Amino acid sequence: MKIWNPVKSCLYRLRKKKDMKDNMAEAVPYLDCCNQPVLKTVKSLYSSNHDSEALRQCQNCKRYWFYRFSEYVSYITDDDLTVWYSSLTEEEAETILNSQDMPDLSFLSNRPSFMKDAEGVKQVHGQPTRPWT
Ligand SMILES: [Zn+2]
Repeated sequence: MKIWNPVKSCLYRLRKKKDMKDNMAEAVPYLDCCNQPVLKTVKSLYSSNHDSEALRQCQNCKRYWFYRFSEYVSYITDDDLTVWYSSLTEEEAETILNSQDMPDLSFLSNRPSFMKDAEGVKQVHGQPTRPWT
């Protein structure tokens, strides 16, 4: 008899695939950490063809941001690409940096964030914590 194991099925499958873009600094002018936000990925948490999550840091002011990218494939219009950035405290960033497994990111759902999609940039009250499910 096969027993469903909820713990095992919840484990994250972190992909080893390395996105070249992750290693490059990227100017993100709409962020408000300083005058010239240039972000670099410090730690990649999750990456698939359609979603990714990463801890990023501004190279100019050292502020940490939680970066999320999500692509919803649509058959009617162009693919819907959405990017979120949420400002993190140093403590939150350290927790993410030091965690071996997927850290608890539930606080992101209530963290004021920047959201960028085909319509432009707007400020939202939080970002989704699990867009790929
Ligand atoms: Zn900055």
